[in-house]
Amino acid sequence: MSAHVIVGTEVAADIRAALKEEVAQLKEQGIHPGLAVILVGDDPASHSYVKGKEKGCEEVGIYSEVVRRDTSITEEELLNLVRGFNENPNIHGILVQLPLPKHISEKAVIDTISPAKDVDGFTPINVGNMMIGDECFLPCTPHGVIELIKRSGQEIAGKHAVVVGRSNIVGKPVSMLLLQENATVTIAHSRTKDLASITKQADILVVAVGRAGMIGPEHVRDGAIVIDVGVNRNEAGKLVGDVKFDEVKEVASYITPVPRGVGPMTITMLLKNTVESAKRLAN
Ligand code: NDP
Repeated sequence: MSAHVIVGTEVAADIRAALKEEVAQLKEQGIHPGLAVILVGDDPASHSYVKGKEKGCEEVGIYSEVVRRDTSITEEELLNLVRGFNENPNIHGILVQLPLPKHISEKAVIDTISPAKDVDGFTPINVGNMMIGDECFLPCTPHGVIELIKRSGQEIAGKHAVVVGRSNIVGKPVSMLLLQENATVTIAHSRTKDLASITKQADILVVAVGRAGMIGPEHVRDGAIVIDVGVNRNEAGKLVGDVKFDEVKEVASYITPVPRGVGPMTITMLLKNTVESAKRLAN
C-alpha cells in the first residue's frame, strides 16, 4: 500500500492559524511580536527564503523589519546592526540569513545575537540549553520535523530513528530532539559504511544531506516513516528532495514530499519562536 503523505503546508497552515489568534490576543495586552531579518548579498535562494519569512510574519500579524545590505558591508557594521536589534524593544527575534560573504565570520555574528532573541536557535547558549533539555528556542527545521511526525499521530518513543546528515543546523539538533522524545537514535554521515544497512533499520528515517534522490526503496524498511529535509534542484530545474519520493512512497507508511513538506514548517516554527520570545520578554 502507498504511504500516507504528510503535507507540511497543511500542518503549517493549522499552526499559523493558531498563532494568528494568539498574536491578536497578545496585541490586546499591548504585546506586539517583532522579527528583524538581516540579509546580505544577492543570493536568489536567500532572497526567496527571506520573502517567505516576511510573508509568514504578515500572515500571522508579526511586525517584521528586513535590512538588506550588499556584500561590501564590513563585519563590524553587521555586528552593529545586530547589536542595535538586541537593544530594540520592538524586536523579539533576530535572524541573520546565512550564508554570509566570506569576509564575515558567521560565528562572530551568531555569537553577537542576544540568546533571548535568538529565534533561529543557533547561539551556543540555545544549543547548550537544548542539549540539557532546558528552556530554549528550538532550531526551526528540526522542530518542524518533530512536529510533522507528532501531528501525523505517530509515536516517537521507543522507535529506532536514523538521521542521515550531522550538520549543526539540521542533522545534529534533529537527532537530539528525537532522543529527547525517547527514540533510539543512530546518526549516519558521509563516512558511514554501508548506509543502506543502517537506514534499513529505521522506524523513522530523517534525511538531511542535500543530494537529490540519494535514498531509494532499497534504503527503507517496510512501513517506515520517512522525513525528507533535503532541497535540491534536478537537471530540469525542479525542486526535489534527497528521497526518491515516488518509489519510496510504495515502501514507507508515512512520507513527506519536497516541496510542501518540511520547508513550510521551518518558517512556521520561526514565527512560533518569535511569538514565544515576545511573551517571555514581556514578563
Ligand atoms: P550540510 O551540507 O551542512 O550537511 C550535509 C550532511 O550530509 C553532512 O553531515 C554530510 O556528512 C552528510 N552527507 C553528505 N554526503 C553523504 C552521503 N553520501 N551519505 C551520508 N551522509 C552524507 O547540509 P544541511 O544540513 O545544511 O542541509 C541538508 C539538506 O537540507 C540540504 O539539501 C538543505 O538545502 C536542506 N535544508 C532544508 C531546510 C528546509 O527548511 N527544508 C532547512 C535547512 C536545510 P559529513 O558531516 O560527514 O560531511
